[in-house]
Amino acid sequence: MHEDDIPLHLDTLAIRAGHTRTNEQEHGEPIFTTSSFVYESAAEAARKFSGEEPGNIYSRFTNPTVRIFEQRLAAMEKGERCVATSSGMAAILSTALGLLEAGDEIVASRSLFGSTVSLFSKYLGKFGITTRYVELSNLEAWEAALTPQTKLLFAETPSNPLSEIVDIAALADIAHRHGAWLAIDNCFCTPALQKPLELGADLVIHSATKYLDGQGRAIGGAVVGPHDLLEEVLGVVRTCGPCMSPFNAWIFLKGLETLGLRMRAHGENAIDFARWLEAHPNVERVHYSGLESHPQHALAKRQQSGFGAVLGVVVKGGREGAWSVIDATRLMSITGNLGDVKTTITHPATTTHGRLSDEQKQVAGIEEGLIRIAVGLEHLDDLKADIARGLDRL
Ligand SMILES: *Cc1c(COP(=O)(O)O)cnc(C)c1O
Repeated sequence: MHEDDIPLHLDTLAIRAGHTRTNEQEHGEPIFTTSSFVYESAAEAARKFSGEEPGNIYSRFTNPTVRIFEQRLAAMEKGERCVATSSGMAAILSTALGLLEAGDEIVASRSLFGSTVSLFSKYLGKFGITTRYVELSNLEAWEAALTPQTKLLFAETPSNPLSEIVDIAALADIAHRHGAWLAIDNCFCTPALQKPLELGADLVIHSATKYLDGQGRAIGGAVVGPHDLLEEVLGVVRTCGPCMSPFNAWIFLKGLETLGLRMRAHGENAIDFARWLEAHPNVERVHYSGLESHPQHALAKRQQSGFGAVLGVVVKGGREGAWSVIDATRLMSITGNLGDVKTTITHPATTTHGRLSDEQKQVAGIEEGLIRIAVGLEHLDDLKADIARGLDRL
């Protein structure tokens, strides 16, 4: 085999894919801050508008900087094509609007990002698209929930905040046997640790806001998958307008360049922190798929090349205990966000999962003593000292 035939590694694609230099011979990726594009002649304009000749028309349709980001992320996820969007939620909305119609059904995992649940139940519901929720890791429950109207299966794996996992290959098989598509929100692992398309999923969804940027600078999203499905998603983005700005695309390009490096470093901090917390006398449980104590550790090891950096830590003393540990931190940011070099800490039962009833919280395993820590890249000794301040006093 000629060396040019060997597929490039993720770290190389993250730095090199998508950028073809312009005549200016720029080394870095250029930002095209232009709303529209011009033509040499009326005839050329007519050819571009009719689609007879490819090329840029208007930045809601295509933009060269956004295209570099799309090609780079598609290469990293091993997808044919990517469409960038203004946010992760816009990516999910555009996928649903592009692929579904009134009467269609979605089957989704119960442990989903809160806004995704609202989008499915409240907003898509208004237009005759219904959603049924099942336990993420229970394949029989997925299968039982499917009907002939089911068009889309939607899951986040690992889940937030308990790191539950679903077998993506098995779920893709269930979807395809019923003529449905499987979409995986790959926010927690990113293509650096998990490639759902290689495992059989049809679509990958991203909130670029999280680890793809990794430094808390911008809101954005993306959908990756095959040409035919992405053509429908692109149609929605072009027509309805939730497109990514060129400046944000450039920020995400800079984020992608260090994605592999950051995810390895996040993972190293997270596993050491998880082990240390698990051994702490005032910690009841740590939910993290990298721990041998995690019920799906073997599956996580098989389908992921790392475990990410989101820990669910149950401390003694219920809500009072959890709040006192959070309030004693001085370094960690108390915020519902995650996927940042800065470590973030939150109390899911009263923030990200506060909308759930007590019964729903119980079903979802959102205990009052649960703290979510999205482990950043600060020195681990400093993070341990920060959490120990409250934890040792419980
Ligand atoms: C944040 C998040 C989203 C939504 O992304 P935005 O960029 O905030 O719109 C979707 N899914 C998951 C798992 C997320 O964490």
